[in-house]
Amino acid sequence: MSYKMSVGLEIHAELLSKTKIFCSCENKFGGKENTRCCPVCMGFPGTLPVLNKKAVELCIMAGLALNCEISESFSMARKNYFYPDLPKAYQISQSENPICKNGYLDTKYGRVGILNIHIEEDAGKLIHRNNETLIDYNRCGVPLIEIVTAPDMHSKEHVNEFLQSLKKLLKSIAVSDCNMQEGSLRCDVNVSMQKEGDNTPGERCEYKNINTFKGAVNAVEYEIKRQSEILNFGGKVERETRRWDDITKESTILRKKENMADYHYFEEPDIPTVKISPETLLKIKQKMPETSEQKKQRYMKEFSLCEYDAELLSQNNSNLFEEAVKNGALPKDTANLILGDISKLVNEGKKLTFGGDKLAKLLCLQDKKIINKTIAKQVLEIMFESGEDPEKIVQNNNLAEITDAGIIEEIVLKTLSENQKAVLEYNQGKKQAFSFLLGKAMEKSNKKANVHLLKEALQNNLKK
Ligand code: ZN
Ligand code: MN
Repeated sequence: MSYKMSVGLEIHAELLSKTKIFCSCENKFGGKENTRCCPVCMGFPGTLPVLNKKAVELCIMAGLALNCEISESFSMARKNYFYPDLPKAYQISQSENPICKNGYLDTKYGRVGILNIHIEEDAGKLIHRNNETLIDYNRCGVPLIEIVTAPDMHSKEHVNEFLQSLKKLLKSIAVSDCNMQEGSLRCDVNVSMQKEGDNTPGERCEYKNINTFKGAVNAVEYEIKRQSEILNFGGKVERETRRWDDITKESTILRKKENMADYHYFEEPDIPTVKISPETLLKIKQKMPETSEQKKQRYMKEFSLCEYDAELLSQNNSNLFEEAVKNGALPKDTANLILGDISKLVNEGKKLTFGGDKLAKLLCLQDKKIINKTIAKQVLEIMFESGEDPEKIVQNNNLAEITDAGIIEEIVLKTLSENQKAVLEYNQGKKQAFSFLLGKAMEKSNKKANVHLLKEALQNNLKK
């Protein structure tokens, strides 16, 4: 029997607002426990929430980037459930009336519908140690968007592709940093199977709070196998919430799924309905940053970069790239340097201490043949250490390329007299001796000689 698998996702992304969603506590990861909380986010009785305008704006930006309709007005709702790190015993979220709905995101495996995007508050964190459980309220009230997709993904590759694209998109418009290690992006995965050709979708199983893309993909793969086996033996898949363990690569049942009704959603009485005026929407549209996809397309068109380079640069170091080009560097050379030597040094743990203006100067020195490629690499390393101006580095360290014919002649003659054996071999027809001599001469110049002039001088002298 063959089955068709469908996956829908609910993705929680923490928003990059300065403060929390209903109070003025700082919205930041980490720090000493319980130092970024107040009576509002700790749910003291008698306190009142005040909705953060920036959080609403960021949700609208996500909606626009995901081709959603933006509601003219929205309201908040209480989702009732008890959890020790949710001190009010309800989460302020949205239900009937989300800010964004009916959008989509296109991926190379096909379009994924976005059913809605709503805002809500995050819960605190439980810390289990020894035989006790401690609660850190710093994360309580951190603003989230929840993105709910249609069950439009039918392979694990599609799930992975969708998550990667979504992350890129949200990062590029600065809605969320999507830092999965810090829990800024988490996803719930819903998997259901149905017989090929059958129109009734099967019962779905939900995996909560998976915080790596690999985990999500592994859970999907596992669930396909688990549900196929049940169906193949004539069984029925039951609706339940399961927990994915990324270490054992297995899942266990958490609970039979609660119904929506179990949450007893009702409109949040402490927050009035909010209208989004056409003017406000227009303002947000106007200040929307370019998405990574738009940036990539522009780099290909404006700077004639290949798709691969444009893709990488649009995600990382795009400011450095554009600033360097604005300061006169050639786009292709800049891209090569950033994606090559600079990325390598950054990956080795070096910190980027200079901007595009200095990078442009370095490329210009190379372009004008004041320094050669090898020296440019040296200068770059010094720039990483000191952040110094490349022109000064070249001057202070006497690194300019040697093009003076007299000096080059002198270097070549010295090299030949010191390597008589190689000269003899060359004269006997062993042509490899030439590259050996060239290397020696380059070394003698402290790698500063112009390689073409050096080659020429060497050839001329060997003919004699
Ligand atoms: Zn607070
Ligand atoms: Mn949620």
